Amino acid sequence: MAEYDDDDFNYSDSGSEVEMDDGMSEDDGIAMEAEDQNGMSEQKDSSLDCIIMTSEQLEKEMKETISEVGNILHVPLGTCRILLHKYKWNMESLMERFYEHPDTMAFLRAAHVVPKNAVTAPTSSTADCDICCNLAELSGLACNHRACTACWRRYLQTKITVDNTSEIECIMNGCELLIEDEKVMSYVVEEPVRASYKRLMINSYVETNRLLRWCPGVDCGRAAKVSHCEPRLVVCTCKSRFCFACGNEWHEPVNCRLLRLWLKKCSDDSETSNWINANTKECPKCLVTIEKDGGCNHMTCKNVACRAEFCWMCLGPWEPHGSSWYSCNRFDDSAAKTARDAQEVSRAALQRYLFYYNRYMGHQHSLRLENKLYATVKAKMEQMQQMAMSWIEVQFLRKAVDVLSECRRTLMYTYAFAYYLQKDNNSIIFEENQKDLEMETEKLSGFLEHELESENLVTLKQKVQDKYRYVEHRRGILLKHCQEGTERDQWRYAE
Ligand SMILES: [Zn+2]
Ligand SMILES: [Zn+2]
Ligand SMILES: [Zn+2]
Ligand SMILES: [Zn+2]
Ligand SMILES: [Zn+2]
Ligand SMILES: [Zn+2]
Repeated sequence: MAEYDDDDFNYSDSGSEVEMDDGMSEDDGIAMEAEDQNGMSEQKDSSLDCIIMTSEQLEKEMKETISEVGNILHVPLGTCRILLHKYKWNMESLMERFYEHPDTMAFLRAAHVVPKNAVTAPTSSTADCDICCNLAELSGLACNHRACTACWRRYLQTKITVDNTSEIECIMNGCELLIEDEKVMSYVVEEPVRASYKRLMINSYVETNRLLRWCPGVDCGRAAKVSHCEPRLVVCTCKSRFCFACGNEWHEPVNCRLLRLWLKKCSDDSETSNWINANTKECPKCLVTIEKDGGCNHMTCKNVACRAEFCWMCLGPWEPHGSSWYSCNRFDDSAAKTARDAQEVSRAALQRYLFYYNRYMGHQHSLRLENKLYATVKAKMEQMQQMAMSWIEVQFLRKAVDVLSECRRTLMYTYAFAYYLQKDNNSIIFEENQKDLEMETEKLSGFLEHELESENLVTLKQKVQDKYRYVEHRRGILLKHCQEGTERDQWRYAE
């Protein structure tokens, strides 16, 4: 049985006191004004029973679970991690299976933690190593498969650093006995390899546990822990926002399953893989090349003789985009209805897909370009503070860009949602909501991008606040309608 001679692997180690992070840290310690009056679902969800854990906290929790199971089942701690891994860290289901099994030894054999067959102990510790054939001091596992220390070390290092696994079988080909952590650590001496093994164990703990998910943020290393696995917004300490159920960026209103289909479709389709992140298009009127350098889709031709105002998405005149006859978001499906042969049908289907894909990519592109606005508003905020406004009084500008980004992201995913939607009364309401959100988002975008400088500082705050509150309100309406449809099972999808 394993000895707990290694500090790193003392599972009952209580460690230092751990402070759980609730993942909703206040922005720079300053509470924002109570702006979120829409009661958006994601705000409600994200604050409920979700915690963000560091890898130290994860390790501590993993060890505690292992100890707990060891105490209850009276099996060596070294086997507990293997058993828990097999049961996806669901302690209840492990207990249940353990106790309902008539034969504990058979249960442990099936889990590959005790040898399949009875073994006779070897007579001498020194013999020819089965792996390298040298005469050496041999050691091994309960299955009595033995090897020299150098062979064990080489084998385990390869498993850890090449195969990247913390669930390692016996060195003997065909023997499925799993090696306990303490045993692994007794052979592996190189510090970087030991550290890798530790990381692999924690990774395996998070990846197999349904209630944990790594934050996808670059170099974040934290994981979210929930009490129920379901699609929900997680806001990490590193500010990443992701869906707990699928790990993608938060994608409301489209659900995880359709998002997966959509992302697959986008990556499979050869027509779209060469969608260049086109920063240039031709003016629909004078054909001069126009460059897009901001997120706003309201374009004005740079040609002074032309000055045509048009929409970057549809290349149509801008004028209707601010009015009730706006239909930039609505796909005209008349071609599909009148298609006479297979070729026309497939062309119409491609046209339809490209319509949604272009808008999806367009908003994503705008979202990236609008990141530059943070620098613009920062300068403006500094200027306003020199005009005797306090730091907190000028935060509305940053908030406006935050809201704009949220709306862009929502709009982006509305096009994935809309692509799968069948036309009915609900989809018509949805398109109306999408249109309103899109119109208002473009207004806010245009204002922040072009009118910030010309606006007088006294009225600026009121204007910006009115605009972002309204657009936020529109977003709330759209998401609420989508959620209600889901709750009532009203959405009809065509896949
Ligand atoms: Zn050997
Ligand atoms: Zn073996
Ligand atoms: Zn994170
Ligand atoms: Zn998801
Ligand atoms: Zn032009
Ligand atoms: Zn348009």
